[in-house]
Amino acid sequence: MHLIVSHWHCPHCDVGGRDPDPEPTCWNCGAVAVVTARPHAEGGPPALTA
Ligand SMILES: [Zn+2]
Repeated sequence: MHLIVSHWHCPHCDVGGRDPDPEPTCWNCGAVAVVTARPHAEGGPPALTA
């Protein structure tokens, strides 16, 4: 199972990517990346709304 849960962007490096980690870090500089989207797998559980 390989679910992509985060699309992210690093403002320091101007790079982005996709990561199964809900709080991804930049592969280039190691900083906490800015999550731009959190797609959910079809048929998966609903997102928490807390
Ligand atoms: Zn970076």
